[in-house]
Amino acid sequence: MAKKELIGICPKCSLPIELCVCESLEQEKQTITIFIDKRKWGRAMTVVNFGNQKANLKKLSKKAKGYCASGGTVKGNTIEIQGDHRRKLKKFLLNLGYTDENIEII
Ligand SMILES: [Zn+2]
Repeated sequence: MAKKELIGICPKCSLPIELCVCESLEQEKQTITIFIDKRKWGRAMTVVNFGNQKANLKKLSKKAKGYCASGGTVKGNTIEIQGDHRRKLKKFLLNLGYTDENIEII
């Protein structure tokens, strides 16, 4: 009986799994932010900041550019796509398997 109860205990915080928030805290840390950066001559750039997410940004940016039919670059841990593609890029990330809670449009 006691053994069975132990299965539902989180090894990180030793709270019952139902009460544990470790996973949601982890997800909060991994939020991807999407925002518009105004450039010279009023041109908009959509920036996708991956924060501390580990992702193959070179590969992702290639796909994102194709998805938005626009140009773009990788800078540090961000992908920049020319034009306002915030909603499109969110959809793109959702299609890749990122969850809605992990993506924030600012
Ligand atoms: Zn926990």
